[in-house]
Amino acid sequence: MHFGKRRQTLPPSMWRYLRPAYTQEKDFLALRVDTRKHQIRTYYRALFRTWGPQHWWPAQSRFEVIVGAYLTQNTAWTNVEKALANLRAARLLSVRGIRRASLAELERLIRPAGYFRQKARRLKVFVAFLDHRYEGSLAKLLARPTQKLREELLNLHGIGPETADSILLYAGNHPAFVVDAYTRRIFLRHEILPEKSAYEEIRELFERALAPLAQSVDDSGRTGNRRLAAGFAGAAHPPSAMSTAKRTPLAQVYNEMHGLIVGVGKNFCRKSQARCDECPLQKFLPRSN
Ligand code: SF4
Repeated sequence: MHFGKRRQTLPPSMWRYLRPAYTQEKDFLALRVDTRKHQIRTYYRALFRTWGPQHWWPAQSRFEVIVGAYLTQNTAWTNVEKALANLRAARLLSVRGIRRASLAELERLIRPAGYFRQKARRLKVFVAFLDHRYEGSLAKLLARPTQKLREELLNLHGIGPETADSILLYAGNHPAFVVDAYTRRIFLRHEILPEKSAYEEIRELFERALAPLAQSVDDSGRTGNRRLAAGFAGAAHPPSAMSTAKRTPLAQVYNEMHGLIVGVGKNFCRKSQARCDECPLQKFLPRSN
C-alpha cells in the first residue's frame, strides 16, 4: 500500500493492516504521529463547535491561579473553591497574605482542599522561593522564558509537571499544554495514546498537534457557547479576569483544549462509567470499543 509523498491520516483500526507495507520503521512512525496530530485537531474542532470558549482558569489574579493549582492536587475543584473562599474571606489570597499567615492558620483555611498540612507547607515554600529569587514579584517570575521558568518550577517542592504547566499556562499565559488524568483516559480509550505514555511525550504531541490551530484562533473565538440540553457547556466557567487576560493565540489554543478535555472527562468519560452515547466524541470512538 502506498500513500504517495503527502502523508495521509488513518483511523486507528487500520494500523494493524498497514504496518507490513512500511519497510522503513521511521516512515511508519512518522505517519502514525501525523495521524494522531490530525485526530487531536479534529477533536478540538468538534468540541469547540459544540461548547465554545471554556473561559479557563476561573480566577481574578495570577496568584489565585497558582494557589488553585497547588490546592487542586488530588482533589475535586469544588473542594478547592471552598478553600479559596476561606482564604479570600480572611484576606489572605495574595503573596503578602500567604507570607504573613501562620502555618496553622493556613492549614485551617485550606482544610477543605484535603492534604491541607502538605499543601500549606508547599504554599509557604512557593512564597519563600518568590521572595528569595524574585524579590516577591510574581511579574518577574512569570516573565522568565518558558523553558527556564518550567525548570525552576519543577525544582520546587510539591510541583510536578501538571502543576508546573498549569502555572505556566493559566497564571503566566505561557504556551505549555497541561496533561491531566482526563487527557490520558480519553485519548487512551480512543487509541490515540499508548497505555504507558510519559507525561512529556503526551505534552509534546498535543503542543505540536495544536500549534497549527493558533492561526485561526481569532475567528474560532466568535462561535460562542452552545449549551447542551443537560444545561452545561463542557467545563465552561463565567468569564474572569484571568480567562480574558491577553495571551498569544498559541497559549489560547492550549488553554481552550485543556478546558474542553476537562468538559469531556468530567461529564462523560468517567473512570468507572463512560457515557459514550451522550458524548460529543462518540462519533470518533474506534470500532473495537
Ligand atoms: S465517554 Fe466514550 S465517547 Fe466520550 S471520550 Fe469517553 S470513551 Fe470517548
